[in-house]
Amino acid sequence: MEISKDTVIQFHYTLSDGEGAQLESSKGGDPMAYLHGHNNIIKGLEAAMEGKQAGESFSVTVEPKDGYGDKKEGLTQRIPVKHMMGQKRWKKGMAGWVKTEQGDRQFTVVKLGKFMADVDFNHPLAGKTLTFDVEIVDVRAATEEEVSHGHAHGVGGHHH
Ligand code: ZN
Repeated sequence: MEISKDTVIQFHYTLSDGEGAQLESSKGGDPMAYLHGHNNIIKGLEAAMEGKQAGESFSVTVEPKDGYGDKKEGLTQRIPVKHMMGQKRWKKGMAGWVKTEQGDRQFTVVKLGKFMADVDFNHPLAGKTLTFDVEIVDVRAATEEEVSHGHAHGVGGHHH
């Protein structure tokens, strides 16, 4: 089965930045799963997936405009350290998240005080050229429920 709109794809990936440094990898854990054609992954990666089949491997380089966008000015805010999630001991440059009314928001620590921290709400990968080495593990038709929810269920996807 080829990857097209309303298929669910399981894949492994290794992500590197423009200088070739490895940032993330799914290898050694469960593959990622997503529902194709619903903007669930970045544009440049979703476009490269189109038409591929299980067992195929490929590499794609994604510019910021098709990835996490350019870094924006004015996204630095001062927030209480006790609201910061994801680390026990914070240091400058670490990434974490806070719960907001709009859902979880990722940040990077710019300046750390005892009780308050200045954090940058740009996505940690904003402004970066990214290379994905992808291995397609499985392609299947999405269920009606997955299409109506707009995301994949099961291993690597959403669990309700
Ligand atoms: Zn769901």
